[in-house]
Amino acid sequence: MKLNGISLNIQHKEEDTQHQELIELLDPHELGDEHRMTSVETPMHEGAFDLSNEEKKAKIETHFREIMHTLGLDLTDDSLKGTPARVAKMYVDEIFSGLNPENEPKVVLFDNKYKYNEMLVEKNITLYSNCEHHFVPIIGRAHIAYISSGKVIGLSKLNRIAQYYAKRPQVQERLTVQIGKHLQRILETDSVAVIIDAEHLCVSSRGIQDVNSSTVSAFYGGEFDKKSRKTELFNYLK
Ligand SMILES: [Zn+2]
Repeated sequence: MKLNGISLNIQHKEEDTQHQELIELLDPHELGDEHRMTSVETPMHEGAFDLSNEEKKAKIETHFREIMHTLGLDLTDDSLKGTPARVAKMYVDEIFSGLNPENEPKVVLFDNKYKYNEMLVEKNITLYSNCEHHFVPIIGRAHIAYISSGKVIGLSKLNRIAQYYAKRPQVQERLTVQIGKHLQRILETDSVAVIIDAEHLCVSSRGIQDVNSSTVSAFYGGEFDKKSRKTELFNYLK
């Protein structure tokens, strides 16, 4: 992935508040096309879990059938008739399963017996997410780093946590911050960095149809605020 996109560096709470105020002044349609986020938390309504997964699938299936019918598609065609049920199952069980906290990866922390106090970097974690403004894919790679405060985590869990947050309708900045804050909480350290480099299909396949751009976003906490630590991290990522 090319690194010629926009670099977003969200690390100060005050900036987030300013960002929020700025966003409130924008028209919602414009906001979607600019791919801005409104909050770090995924906006969910109060009744988000009133329905069971099976009830959600049944409802989505009905609505998706209606969308396809409205587009003019013949739902009695053998190739199309299973699509609404397939999409509903895919939304709930797979690509948006990260909306349900029940699917949050269970994490076991280990004591840092080897006293490894250096930076640990997990590179090139494949991410598939979906843009919350257009519901088309965001495809990218995440690089995650942390410096242990005494606890370490199984490496595959870093992938799982990144993928859990990716399986939501997302905005890249929010995805980056959600992964970073989650890791800070479970690893009991501020020293966490997350860099995501992703291609947004809503930019490449529609809209301005730019196939060469990718977007880079970063979250730096604790030690990673220091220039020397950032330099060290960038050396690992080369
Ligand atoms: Zn989009």
